[in-house]
Amino acid sequence: MKIGVYPGTFDPITHGHTDIIRRSLRVFDKVIVAVALSPTKRPMFDLAERVDMVRLVTKELAHVDVEAFQGLLVDFVRDRGARAVIRGLRAISDFEYEFQMALVNRKLAEGFETVFLTPSEEYTYLTSSIIKEVASLGGRLDAFVHPLVGARLFGRRGTKVS
Ligand code: ADP
Repeated sequence: MKIGVYPGTFDPITHGHTDIIRRSLRVFDKVIVAVALSPTKRPMFDLAERVDMVRLVTKELAHVDVEAFQGLLVDFVRDRGARAVIRGLRAISDFEYEFQMALVNRKLAEGFETVFLTPSEEYTYLTSSIIKEVASLGGRLDAFVHPLVGARLFGRRGTKVS
């Protein structure tokens, strides 16, 4: 069975992330969404909330597991018996960081592969940060996130966006 791991902060999950998960399912038999603790990013939502939102949004999708993770990605990938890590590439601006990460991970674990997928054009501009900004200013969120995620963001209005 070909297992892919899709790691990220998912603070919160957007339609761009979901698009990548759907595309991954055409390539892998099973996709594990690995929600990272990411303390240096100082997420708006704590780890349990982020995992919960990814579970809610992906509950209709077969062959998707959602797990919290911290520590080294290469260890997580090896422990799950996964073939590759999935990352989304939206624009050239993502490239440098993603390229660096892919090569560092390959140095850490021989045979580690990263698969890059591009989302539908309508999501190429979408980032969790911009969504939090829109939410904090009271903007409509339905084009960007699942309604349940929108409701949680709405509940956080007034929270400082870092
Ligand atoms: P990280 O902290 O790992 O960058 P993110 O949740 O910001 O976590 O992103 C996780 C992955 O999803 C990254 O590979 C990122 O490029 C990708 N991604 C985020 N938003 C989109 C989007 N709108 N379209 C496609 N890929 C995306």
